[in-house]
Amino acid sequence: MSRRGTAPRQPGVGLAWGKAFGRGLLRWFTRHGRDLPWRRTRDPYRILVSEMMLQQTQVPRVLAYYPRFLRRYPTVEALAAAPPARVREAWDGLGYYARAHNLQAAAQAVVRERGGRFPRTREEAERLPGVGRYTSGALLAFAFEEPVPALDTNGTRVLSRLFLARRSSSPSRTAARLETLAASLIPAGEAWAFNQALMDFGALVCTARAPRCDACPFRSRCRAYARWQRRGRSAPGRQP
Ligand code: SF4
Repeated sequence: MSRRGTAPRQPGVGLAWGKAFGRGLLRWFTRHGRDLPWRRTRDPYRILVSEMMLQQTQVPRVLAYYPRFLRRYPTVEALAAAPPARVREAWDGLGYYARAHNLQAAAQAVVRERGGRFPRTREEAERLPGVGRYTSGALLAFAFEEPVPALDTNGTRVLSRLFLARRSSSPSRTAARLETLAASLIPAGEAWAFNQALMDFGALVCTARAPRCDACPFRSRCRAYARWQRRGRSAPGRQP
């Protein structure tokens, strides 16, 4: 595709490369994505439970708690009506108990203020207790396939390394820029898969300390990789 007449979506990210990245990421996900129980549902309640649990807890630990919690509270109505002490008990062992409190408060807000319907916009989602920017994106993209980004630490790292020539000195400006970039990269109708794929790619390939650049399908276009090569490194902080 000719570059002439193609408006770049972000500085340094042309339309063709943005599309190729989206498609390449989905291909990678089809082959390597993790099969996780919360990926087998589009029920917003079940997705919210998983996202709250994953906020400060590693996947293997959540795998043990998630089905147990849902057996006890299978619906948003059941959780909303439960005695708080029992909810706290069901959360026992996961830590950061404020999450259990927030999850139940969010369930009560959905049941009592919204007639059991989950929000369909980020603004509304972020009014629920314990739901921040990432979780609102996850809820909308994973439950409703809304074309919004859900940028967790992994996704943020992948996009920064691949696309950002430099970070702004303002973290909030960098976050806003990455959100805009991520939104522009989501292939049509693929918000669920794109966001799940980005997270898995950051968790399995483009890891924080030892990225597997040798196995990365995007290496030839990666700005961080090129920077490390110029500096004689093979990864952040590692000598070749
Ligand atoms: S080349 Fe390395 S740093 Fe760049 S996206 Fe791939 S794994 Fe991450």
